[in-house]
Amino acid sequence: MLTLDTDITKINRIGATTAKRLYSLGIKTARDLLLYFPYRYEDFRAPAPIGGLSAGQSANVVGQIEHIHGRRSFRRRLSVTEAIVNDGTDSLRVIWFNQPFIARSLAVGDRVSLAGKIEGDYGGFMMKSPVYEKITAGGGLHTQGLVPDYHLTFGLTQKQIRFLVKEVIDLADKFPDYLPPEIVRGQNLLTLDKTIKKIHFPDDLNDIELAKKRLAWDELFLVQARSQLTRRELMLTRAKAVKFREKDTKTFVDSLPFRLTDDQKKAAWAILNDMEKTEPMARLLEGDVGSGKTLVAVIAMLNAALNKKQSVLMVPTEILAHQHFAVISRLLSAMKISVGLITRSKKAIFPEQTDKKINSSFIIQNSKIIIGTHSLIQEKIEFNDLSLVIIDEQHRFGVDQRRMLMQKTSSRSATENRQSKIENLPHLLSMTATPIPRSLALALFGDLNLSVIREMPKGRKPITTKVVPEEKREAAYKFIRDQVKEGRQVFVICPLIDPSDKLGVKSVKEEFEKLDKTIFPDLPVGLLHGRLKPKEKEKIMADFLDKKTKILVSTSVVEVGVDVPNATIMMIEGADRFGLAQLHQFRGRVGRGENQSYCFLFAESRALRTAQRLSAMEKYSSGFDLAKVDLKFRGPGEIYGTVQKGFPEFRIASLFDHELIEKTSQAAAALIKKDPELKEYPELKEKLGEYEKRVHLE
Ligand code: ADP
Ligand code: MG
Repeated sequence: MLTLDTDITKINRIGATTAKRLYSLGIKTARDLLLYFPYRYEDFRAPAPIGGLSAGQSANVVGQIEHIHGRRSFRRRLSVTEAIVNDGTDSLRVIWFNQPFIARSLAVGDRVSLAGKIEGDYGGFMMKSPVYEKITAGGGLHTQGLVPDYHLTFGLTQKQIRFLVKEVIDLADKFPDYLPPEIVRGQNLLTLDKTIKKIHFPDDLNDIELAKKRLAWDELFLVQARSQLTRRELMLTRAKAVKFREKDTKTFVDSLPFRLTDDQKKAAWAILNDMEKTEPMARLLEGDVGSGKTLVAVIAMLNAALNKKQSVLMVPTEILAHQHFAVISRLLSAMKISVGLITRSKKAIFPEQTDKKINSSFIIQNSKIIIGTHSLIQEKIEFNDLSLVIIDEQHRFGVDQRRMLMQKTSSRSATENRQSKIENLPHLLSMTATPIPRSLALALFGDLNLSVIREMPKGRKPITTKVVPEEKREAAYKFIRDQVKEGRQVFVICPLIDPSDKLGVKSVKEEFEKLDKTIFPDLPVGLLHGRLKPKEKEKIMADFLDKKTKILVSTSVVEVGVDVPNATIMMIEGADRFGLAQLHQFRGRVGRGENQSYCFLFAESRALRTAQRLSAMEKYSSGFDLAKVDLKFRGPGEIYGTVQKGFPEFRIASLFDHELIEKTSQAAAALIKKDPELKEYPELKEKLGEYEKRVHLE
C-alpha cells in the first residue's frame, strides 16, 4: 500500500539508479514526488492534421502506422528507426535515432500519438525523434492534452517523472489541507488535493490557473503567518535599553573623511531609536552593494560600547571578518574602544595586547565589539552583557546558523519560554544587499522593521560594464595592462565548471596559470580559492590590499563584502554561469574609490538568451532592477531560493503580486488575532512548525 511517506524506492519501476537521481532533486518520498511541480506545460490538446502541417511548428499528430522498420547506419554509426504515419489527411515521415527498441514496440496498424517539431524535408514534412505513445483507451500521458514538463537532472527523462507522478497521484487525496476551510471557501480556492492533481495533470488552462492561485496563496500566507507569530512572541520579551550618546556619536561622525549620506543618517537614527527601547530591536537594513552599511553598523556598535555594553558582528567569511576588524579598529581607534576578532584561523584584539594570551575568552572579556565568523557559534563562547547582535550579509547565512547565533546570544527562540517574558535579549540588526521592495519586505517580514539605504555615497562614478565577445579578449587584456600601469588593480573571477569540484579550484588554477605565465608574465598575479588554508587566504588578500599583487584570480569567495578601493576592474569568466544578483555582487567589489571602474563579462554560451540576460548588466546599475530581470529569466525560486539562502523560497508566487501579498497578509493577521495559539487549526500549526525549521527566524 502506498502512502505519502512511502519511500520512492518502493514505487513501481524505481530502481537504485533512478532513486539516486530523484534524491538529487530532493525527492525521497511519494509526498516529495507530488510536491515536485512542473515548471511548464506543452500544449498538445488538438492533434494537428498532417495535411495542414508547416515547417518549424511544434505539433501533436495522431495517426496509424503504415510502415515501420529499424536499420543501422554504418557510416554514421547510428541505429535509425523509420516510420510512416497516416491520419487520413496525409502521411508523415518519422525518424528516431539510437532508439532501436521503438521498431520492436510499435507495429504497423498501431495508432500512435507523436509530439515534436515539424521539419521540412525534400519529399514533404518529417518529425525527428518525436516523443511517441501508443494510443490506448486511457488517452496519452506524454503526447496529448496539456503535458507537464519537470526540471530534470542528468539521466532522468520527462517520461519517467510523468509516469511516476501518475503512479502516486491518487495519494493527493491524503494530503491534509492545512489552510483553514473558511479561507479556502471565502477566497474561492481549490482544496489541496485537487490542487495537486490539477497542477500535474490539468484538463485545461483554467485548471492550471486555479492550482497556481491556490499554491501562490499558500506560499505567501504561510510566510506571513509565521512572521506575525514571531512578532507576537518578540513583543513578550525585553531587552536592555542602550542610550543614544549624541555628543560622542557626533564626534565620531565628524572624524570621518566623508559625510554620511541622508539615508545612512536615517538608518542610524532609526536603529539608535530602537535600541533606546526595552523591546528588543528586530531590524533589517537593506542597501545595495557599496551603499555604506558597515558604517551604520559601526555607529550602532559604538553606542552600545559607550553604554559599556557588548556587540557582536557576525559575517559569512574569514576574509570579510578580517577586513571588518581592520577597518572598524581603525575607525574607532580615537574613541578608545576595544575591538576583538574571533575566526577559526585568527584571534586578535585592538588595541593590541602583546603580553597577553589572546584566546576567545580573553577577547570576550576585554572587548566591547566582537567581529567574527560562524566560529562565534561553534566555539564555546559566553558573551558578556551582550546588547547588540549584527548579522552582515544575512542572506549568506543558512537558517540554522542564524538560529544558533540567536540561541547562543539569547533565549529568543527558546520555545519553552514562549509564554513568559524573557529579559535581557540583545537587539538584532540584520544587513543585506538583497533588493526587496519596501512594501514586499514589510508584508513578508512582518516581524522586522526595515531601513533602506537607497542613496549611494557621493562621487561614485557608475561602473562601465561590457559583455566582451571572445574576439575582443586581447583588447581587454591590453586594457587591463594599461590600468595596472596606472597603478590600478584587477579581480578575475572564474566559475565552477566541474560540479564535482565544488570549490571551483580546477578552473581557477588553470586561469591563474594562463594569466600568470602567458598573458601577464611581468605582472604579479595572485590566486585565491576556498580550499586554501585560512592563513594563506589572509596573506593573499593582504598582498592584494597592499598592492603587492596587481591581479587577483579568484573563485566566488570574494563575492561578499570585500572592499579594495584601488581595484577598478572586475573581469568575470563564464559570466553566464552566474545569476545576475551574484554578478552584481561581484561588480560591487569595484567602483569603491575615486577612479573610473570597469566590469567585463565573458560568456561561454553564445545563446541569444544568455546575451540578453547579460546585457541587463550593461543597462542596469541597481541591484533591484537586476533582480527584476533575473526574475523574468530564471523564476523566483532560483534567485531567492538558491542564490539567496535566507530568503523564503517561492516557487509559484510572484514577489511582485502586491495584491495577493496584501490579501494573504490580512488573512494571516485576522486568523492570528482570532486564534493566536492556533488551537483550532492543528494542521496549520504543524505546517508552520515545519516552516519554522526552513525559513528565517529573525
Ligand atoms: P556595503 O553597504 O556594501 O557593506 P561598505 O560599508 O563596505 O558597503 O561601504 C563601501 C565603501 O564606501 C567603503 O569604502 C566605505 O568606507 C565607503 N563609504 C561609506 N559611507 C560613505 C559615505 N557616506 N561617503 C563616501 N564613502 C562612504
Ligand atoms: Mg558590507
